[in-house]
Amino acid sequence: MKKIEEYVRSIPDFPEPGIIFRDITSVLQDADGLQLAIDSMIKLLDGVDFDVVAGTESRGFIFGVPIAYEMHKPFVPVRKKGKLPCETISQSYDLEYGQATIEMHKDSIKPGQKVVLVDDLIATGGTIEAAIKLVEQLGGEVVKVIFLMELAGLKGRERLKGYDVASVITYE
Ligand code: 5GP
Repeated sequence: MKKIEEYVRSIPDFPEPGIIFRDITSVLQDADGLQLAIDSMIKLLDGVDFDVVAGTESRGFIFGVPIAYEMHKPFVPVRKKGKLPCETISQSYDLEYGQATIEMHKDSIKPGQKVVLVDDLIATGGTIEAAIKLVEQLGGEVVKVIFLMELAGLKGRERLKGYDVASVITYE
């Protein structure tokens, strides 16, 4: 059986020179790769007691929804600014150049709910840190943060001190 890292395609110099982009389309377009990715992420939740899965747009949706479905939990999307139709809260965070803003519906998490956050990859940790702030602003408790891939060299984990963070594959 192939390992999950064998399904990930690494693209040099995308989206900019010097960056190696870890492409998940090659995982998704293989039935065994897709199943292994979801099953491996679900294993990271062994023994975790939670109420809701939340995922960040857009690759966090791809992995978050099947995990929520399989575990019979609701899914909450954390979206880019301006996409959600009802009352929202928002959080901005720094990108290499400029800023980005993500939003959640105000009624998407109830105070006290235990939340698992999902994304495909952690690099600097800025995106997931902003998502954690939103969940906490709504009164949710982030009990686990899971990724398919982690770029350890960018030290995203250091921004998430105090949280239970796990990933399936780590690139140094
Ligand atoms: P961070 O906020 O941790 O710096 O960046 C993580 C976000 O950028 C995630 O939402 C992730 O989808 C995206 N991202 C950054 N680099 C890559 C990459 O090499 N591959 C993939 N698939 N996503 C990336």
